[in-house]
Amino acid sequence: MGKREELEKLHAKWKTECACELRATSLQAVPGDGSAEAEIVFIGEAPGQKEDEQGRPFVGAAGKFLAEMLSSINLKREGVYITNIVKYRPPNNRDPLPEEKNACREWLLGELKKISQAHGKLLIKKFGGMPTKYFYALYHPAAALYDGSMREVLMTDFKKIPKVLEKIKNNIFAGTDFLKLKKS
Ligand code: URA
Repeated sequence: MGKREELEKLHAKWKTECACELRATSLQAVPGDGSAEAEIVFIGEAPGQKEDEQGRPFVGAAGKFLAEMLSSINLKREGVYITNIVKYRPPNNRDPLPEEKNACREWLLGELKKISQAHGKLLIKKFGGMPTKYFYALYHPAAALYDGSMREVLMTDFKKIPKVLEKIKNNIFAGTDFLKLKKS
């Protein structure tokens, strides 16, 4: 099954199983939306009125501004993934309560699991006038505390750090001065 189908299956499952109490007061669920292959994920807090009406995240004023900002760095909405912590609109757009965020947490983690590709990879970037910078992407420890399977992935990625440092020290990536993701 491809990532797109897996995401659709995930949304279908949580649309029926999510125990969030906001289901009762909102019009519909607002699952994440965008590319299943995205390297960037934007996570908002909760859908607003327009999102509730259309069942899509960031389609109101904030969404228009986000699309404008994406365009300013040559990205399109369809090329990134956009979602929310809470998948249902809170009444009068109030802040979601901790228990509402908890109820929707597995749904968000499922989306991140399907999309996250950067972890365990080395990002090499040269900024003007500075020596090449290296970024090694890892899951946040808090995500690993919530989800046992992420803990294992984080630990595996973490153990690769000395090898990555060694490669950098030995100039293995010399001459690489553009945005590049390398499996370490
Ligand atoms: N603000 C958010 O946090 N999410 C949306 O979907 C829209 C606005």
